[in-house]
Amino acid sequence: MPTDTTGKKKPQRQCIGCGERHDKKDLIRIVQSPEGKLSADATGRSQGRGAYICPKPECLQKAVKKRGLNRAFKREIRPEELTAVTEDFSRICDQLAGTGGGNDGT
Ligand SMILES: [Zn+2]
Repeated sequence: MPTDTTGKKKPQRQCIGCGERHDKKDLIRIVQSPEGKLSADATGRSQGRGAYICPKPECLQKAVKKRGLNRAFKREIRPEELTAVTEDFSRICDQLAGTGGGNDGT
């Protein structure tokens, strides 16, 4: 069976929630701006220190519980910051999920 674990085609990152490795493009990046503002970065191109989480609410929850964000950003994350990141995160999850929800198309 073909396993190309040796092929380094796709960059992989570790989810700070579940700890599994996935293609970078399949993860949501949490980024801290130079001003110290945390946000979920849909494009993966924002400047700053970043951490990666699977696009699943449970992985964000795990990351919060394990204080993975604190570790990734080497500081205490305030509750209101977590709230803002969680909101960003779920919005991006919805986008990734495609056209599910309030889309009255055609
Ligand atoms: Zn995960």
